[in-house]
Amino acid sequence: MASLAFIDKEKTQKKYARDCTHADKCKDFYCQTPNCPAIVRIRALDSVVRPPYFREKSDEFKHSEYCHPPKLNAFTPSEYDEDAFVFDDEMEKLFNLQQNSTPKKGNHQYRNGICNRRFLSGLLNIYNMCRETDVDGMYNNYEVKKMLCDCRSNFFYKNGIYGKKIVECRYLENNDEKRSIFFQYPIDPTYKNQHGIKAFFEDRELYKLIKAMVIDRGNLPIVIAGDWGKDKFIEDLFYCRIKNKRQIQLPSV
Ligand SMILES: [Zn+2]
Repeated sequence: MASLAFIDKEKTQKKYARDCTHADKCKDFYCQTPNCPAIVRIRALDSVVRPPYFREKSDEFKHSEYCHPPKLNAFTPSEYDEDAFVFDDEMEKLFNLQQNSTPKKGNHQYRNGICNRRFLSGLLNIYNMCRETDVDGMYNNYEVKKMLCDCRSNFFYKNGIYGKKIVECRYLENNDEKRSIFFQYPIDPTYKNQHGIKAFFEDRELYKLIKAMVIDRGNLPIVIAGDWGKDKFIEDLFYCRIKNKRQIQLPSV
C-alpha cells in the first residue's frame, strides 16, 4: 500500500500517490524498491475515508518476496509535528528507555486544552515514516537514506553502516555463548552492498527474548535501531549493542 512509486520503467522519476490525479488512473507505475518487479496502480483517488495509495496492478505483477510496502495508513504525515522531530534524540530514547517502562504512545501536544499533532517517536513509527517518504527526501531536515538502511538506500551503504541508524535486515543465525544474533543487510540478496549485522546483548534474558522473536522470521523484515560500528575481527560485519527490547521490532507485513 505504498504512498510512492516510480512513473517510468527505468525507475528514474517518482510520484507520491497524493499528487496523482484522474489522468493517472489507468497508468502503470513501478514499485519504489529498486529490484522489485511489481507494477502498481493508483487506488482510492476518490475515497473520502482513505488517502490515495499504490497497489499491485494484479497478481501477475506482485512485489518480490523481499519487498513489503507498509500497511495502509502506517504513517499519516498530518498526524505528526514534523518540526519537532529530532532523529538522534529519538534513537537515544530507544537505547535508554527502562526495560519495563510503558512506551509513550503518541506523545500528544496540547495547546489551549486542544490536542494537536503528536511527536513522531518509537522505532516502528519512525521506520514507517521513512518507508513512506522518498528515500532521496527529507523529514525535518534529516535525510531518509541516512536514517534507514533498507533496499532503497542500499546504494548509499557501500562502505558499511556507522552511527545511529535503523537497519532493515533478515535473521541469519545466533550464538548463545556470545549472546549475539546475526542478520543480513539488506533483506534482498540481489543488492550490491551486502553487509553482515551483529546484535550483541549485555543481558542474557533479553537475548533469549529477542532470539525467540526473530528466529522463525525467514525472509520477512526485522528492524534494528542501533549505534553501529565495524567489528574488529570479522571483515564486513557491523555491530550494535542491544540494551532495550524496543531496539528490535518486527514490522507487520
Ligand atoms: Zn515492491
